[in-house]
Amino acid sequence: MSDATPLFQIENLHAGIEGKQILRGVNLTINRGEIHGLMGPNGSGKSTLAYVVAGHPNYEVMEGRVLFKGTNVLEMSADERARLGMFLAFQYPTVIPGVSMANFLRLAVNSVREGRGNGNGKPLPPREFRRMIREKMALLKMDEAFATRYLNEGFSGGEKKRAEILQLALLEPDFAILDETDSGLDIDALRTVSDGVNTVFTDQQAMLVITHYQRLLNYIKPHFVHVMLEGRIVESGGPELALELEDKGYDWLKEKHAS
Ligand code: ADP
Ligand code: MG
Repeated sequence: MSDATPLFQIENLHAGIEGKQILRGVNLTINRGEIHGLMGPNGSGKSTLAYVVAGHPNYEVMEGRVLFKGTNVLEMSADERARLGMFLAFQYPTVIPGVSMANFLRLAVNSVREGRGNGNGKPLPPREFRRMIREKMALLKMDEAFATRYLNEGFSGGEKKRAEILQLALLEPDFAILDETDSGLDIDALRTVSDGVNTVFTDQQAMLVITHYQRLLNYIKPHFVHVMLEGRIVESGGPELALELEDKGYDWLKEKHAS
């Protein structure tokens, strides 16, 4: 990959689920160091975009490409995409009964290490992993007891989000999609989670932050903001676009782009 190759690029993506077309020609380019916000009314296709990019098996792609580090990832499994350095925080994280946070994270970290050839692809020794998880939890101001709990079992909304951010911190992906990371969070939890994201993000990474509300983007400040309507990105701009939407809602864009 030459330096000029964008880290992440979506070209003319058409995709849907159960025979229903939802994405109708999405184009998006994201470079290292950039945070992009993706906004839009409910049902406009934001989560669909996230799932398709992550390789969720229920979604079908009709047309277009998703290039990550110059490779079309649409041919790859979700697991292979993660190993290549992509990360998706799901809007509704699942419960995995009987798997502790720490075990889940160790498996995830080792899988990604193997894919990237870090440490010759060897699994991290348990002691090293414990050191790493302690360091990241301290960074995120998280209680160490958290790691011994079973994944998502009885987690509050805020705890699920923090678990995602811990995963983000440990995996150090090149590219992350956060889908509705703000949903179900009160203002304090929102601040903690956002601080966590801001703490772990470096200019060697890139991020797509999906949110219905402008609020999250006050805390995780995007360089670019895009608006999705009916499966297309109809408007792109700087952070001021999010403020405009906060002020005016989505109706003016719906009128402007009435199909
Ligand atoms: P957003 O995240 O912007 O709220 P989604 O991507 O979740 O939007 O949904 C886009 C459209 O796809 C909506 O019309 C929704 O009803 C539809 N949709 C989402 N999931 C499914 C599904 N499993 N089966 C059929 N339609 C779906
Ligand atoms: Mg959604």
